[in-house]
Formats: sequence, structure tokens, C-alpha cells
Amino acid sequence: MPNEKVCGREEIVMEVMYKSTRSESRPVTASAAILQGLTQDGGLFVPDHIPALDKSLRELSAMSYQELAYQVMKLYLTDFTEEELRACIRRAYDEKFDTEVIAPLTQAKGAYYLELFHGATIAFKDMALSILPHLMITAAAKNHMEKEIVILTATSGDTGKAALAGFAGVKGTRIVVFYPKNGVSPIQEKQMVTQRGDNTLVVGIQGNFDDAQAGVKKMFSDRALAGELEAAGFQFSSANSINIGRLVPQIVYYVYAYAQLMASGKIAEGEKINVVVPTGNFGNILAAFYAKNMGLPIAKLICASNENKVLYDFLRTGVYDRNREFVLTSSPSMDILISSNLERLIYRIAGEDPKVNAGLMAQLGAEGKYRITEDMQAALEDFYGNYATGEECARTIRELYRDCGYVIDTHTAVAAAVYEKYRRESGDTAQTVIVSTASPFKFTRSVMNAIDAGHDRMTDFELADELSRLGNVAVPRAIQEIRTAPVIHNHVCKVEEMPQMVRDFLNL
Ligand SMILES: *Cc1c(COP(=O)(O)O)cnc(C)c1O
Repeated sequence: MPNEKVCGREEIVMEVMYKSTRSESRPVTASAAILQGLTQDGGLFVPDHIPALDKSLRELSAMSYQELAYQVMKLYLTDFTEEELRACIRRAYDEKFDTEVIAPLTQAKGAYYLELFHGATIAFKDMALSILPHLMITAAAKNHMEKEIVILTATSGDTGKAALAGFAGVKGTRIVVFYPKNGVSPIQEKQMVTQRGDNTLVVGIQGNFDDAQAGVKKMFSDRALAGELEAAGFQFSSANSINIGRLVPQIVYYVYAYAQLMASGKIAEGEKINVVVPTGNFGNILAAFYAKNMGLPIAKLICASNENKVLYDFLRTGVYDRNREFVLTSSPSMDILISSNLERLIYRIAGEDPKVNAGLMAQLGAEGKYRITEDMQAALEDFYGNYATGEECARTIRELYRDCGYVIDTHTAVAAAVYEKYRRESGDTAQTVIVSTASPFKFTRSVMNAIDAGHDRMTDFELADELSRLGNVAVPRAIQEIRTAPVIHNHVCKVEEMPQMVRDFLNL
């Protein structure tokens, strides 16, 4: 029986508890799930039911981003008080964003671009990572956890900076980010090593991203290190995209996009829209799926992949197969062969049967692939998948710029190119939101090459100025700041030395 609690005088709220995708373990509260990250059996936390929106679309369409965030998140984080949740939202979605709207829509060439790149690091991970630290420290207080939270992250570039920006200066937390010393772009590195905040540490490692990732995983399971931490009043935690505290804030902007379209009269109340999501780890599009299941009128969930098209093949054939060559593309944040968040969808289409899901995940671990049943495949009919090559993305960027003067980044271009394919194939003319996950200033070189080749000798900062001139948009603050910012972190270490870097930072 789900718990019921009484909130206010009349409202009865069904408590949402979080259970594992892999076994029938005892469900935990939202705050406990946020603190734990992963379930003990290695699965992911999922809500025991998907709550329905409890405000009408008309009411929602009159709300600010912050108010709407509260209305959506309160339905999932039912053990947070109104005051706690509103405080988290206030601290997250403030002047760090360069627009009061937080997530504006731009109309271009028959679609609406939902710009999720107006936060501190000009990419969509800011949407969740600006609020996660506040959700975590609130959750820690609620669960009487007095230890200071130490976030460990390995990054191939973007997540590290977004996590640093989110956690920097947040009392009760520390954050350590490891990145491959020679494996990130000059702008990405500069963004990280100039990070301010006494609670931050950034370390380049002599190795690639997988080495950094393996090193972090090893520290998480190092009992001796955990003991030292505990004795000194610390506890490790993780900010990666499978944390439910990252998923829930992502549902908000789908509802907000719909509300904005209604408020501006572009759609009628209840009219169905499509969403197109450039996908890697499957977190962003899963949030859209949850929004749809809450009652938001979404017709198609269009899953856009780059040349690492595991998800396209999966949606087409029902076979998920990671045994293939890993392709380095111009949309690096989507270069992924194991989309971790897909597990939550598999669990759902398996009729919420943890045994079935655990079996498939075990196959994925052992053989690198699995096949779902025909019934499960039928349950995916709201999804449409396709992919775009680097050349198709470049052409999409070029043509959109030529026809509308609007510049999009390489990840967003994957979505725009796939949308074109979908429209051609289906003839569907429903209003469509294309999720724009990064500012073009974050991937300046690829974007400039697409719209106007011949800048090979320019530095990344010169390219940014040139893009600003061509696109007629100001260089974002995130780029301006790092031009002259002093380097604060200059640590480089071997993989074996990673634990020692953490010990030194925490004075263990
Ligand atoms: C992380 C990322 C994606 C992929 O999002 P998922 O939630 O992992 O599917 C797409 N674009 C950009 C710019 C990203 O940083």
C-alpha cells in the first residue's frame, strides 16, 4: 500500500516511493534515492507510479519557470516540504541563467527550438546540475546525515564543468573532477581549470576518459578509503545522470515548453505536440516520456542519434547491441554505446517486472546485447528513432543559418536533421519542439566549419568572436569569463595516484 500523507487542509498527496529496476527490494523515499544514487542491487531507482499533473494546462501556462518547476517536482519529491523544494528551486534557477525565462523557445523553419543552454556552462546539463546540489544537501539534512558530501566525477568534458558550477560554494559539499589531460577541447579544459570555489578540485589524468571513469569507480568501491572518509566526516556521492535528482528536474522543461506554446497561442489547450531529443545516455528523452505519462499532450517522442546509432537500431529491431565500433563524432556528448537510462524504459515496458529487466541487463553485461519481446516492442510505438551523420548535421546547420540566420550546435543539429527525416517519412505536421542541448559557442569549431569554412588557423576564442558576428548574438558570459580567468587547478596525476589526490584534498 502506498503511504498517503496530508498536505495542507484539503490536498491529499499520494506519496511517491522509489524502487529498484532489478529486484523487489524495499522502496525508499525520494530524498534517500537522491542520496544513494544507485540501488544496492546495481539497478536504478524508479518511482512506484508516475504521478499525474494536478494543475490544468491553462493554469500551468500562466506560470513562471520556477513556479512550474515546483508544481512538477513536488509530485515526485513528496518527502520534501514545500519550503524546502521552493528554496532549492530559487537557488538553482536564478541569475546564473542569462534569461529570466530560463528555457526559451525560438521558432525557426517550422519547428520550435527549446534552448536549454542559458545556464552557467551553456549546455543542457545545467538544467539538472544547478539544482542537484541543493536537493542533495536538503536530502542529507532530512535523513540526519551529518557527513559532508564528496562528489567524485570523471568527465569527458561537459558534465565535469556543469557539476563543478553546480556544487562550487555549496556548503556541506566538496567536488573532485577527473578529466583526461589530453582528451578534452581547449575551451572545455579552460572552463574546468579556472573553476573557483574552495570546495572544488580539478585533476587532469594521464590516460583517457575510460581510465578516469574506471579510477573513480574503483574509489567508490574501495572499503579502506570509505573508512578513512567516514572517520574524517565525509561520504562519497555521485552526480551522474542516473540519479533521480537529475531526472526529475528535466521533466519540468517539457511541461514548460508546452505551457509557453499555449500561452503564446501557437497551440490550443490539449493539442498534441512532438518532441525531438538529441540522445546519448537516454536521460533527457526519458524525462519527456515521464512528462507524457503525467498527462502532457505529447504525440511522438523522436529519439535522435549520431553515428553511434545503438538506439536507432534498437527501436527498429528490438535488439540492443553495443558490440560495434565506437565512432568519434562532431557531437561528442552523444558518443555513447551504453545508454544507462534506457534501463528505466525497459523496466516499464517489461510491465515493471524487475526479474525480466535484471535478466536483460545481465545479458547486456555478459554479451553486450539483448533482445526484447514483441509485446515490449509494441509498447514502444510512441517512440520514433533515426540518426544523422556528421555531414548531414553540418548541412542542417548551414541551411538553417542560410534560411533563418539561426545558428544551432552540432548536438541540436542531430535532432534537427532527424526531424527532417521524420517529417519526410511520416508527413506529420503536428507542432514540434526540438530540444536544443548546447550553445553553438560550446562547439564553435564544428559549427563555424559548417556555416563558413576556412577558419582553420583561428583560435577557439577568435572563432567565438566570428560566430558572434555571423550569428548576430553576443558571446555568452561563460566564454567571455574564461578568456582572462586565472588557472586555479593545475594538478596532473597518474591513474594510480587518483586516491591520493582525494586524500590530500580532504586532508585525510
Ligand atoms: C549529455 C548531452 C546530450 C545527451 O543527453 P542524454 O540525456 O545523455 O541523452 C545531448 N547533447 C548535449 C550537448 C549533452 O551535453
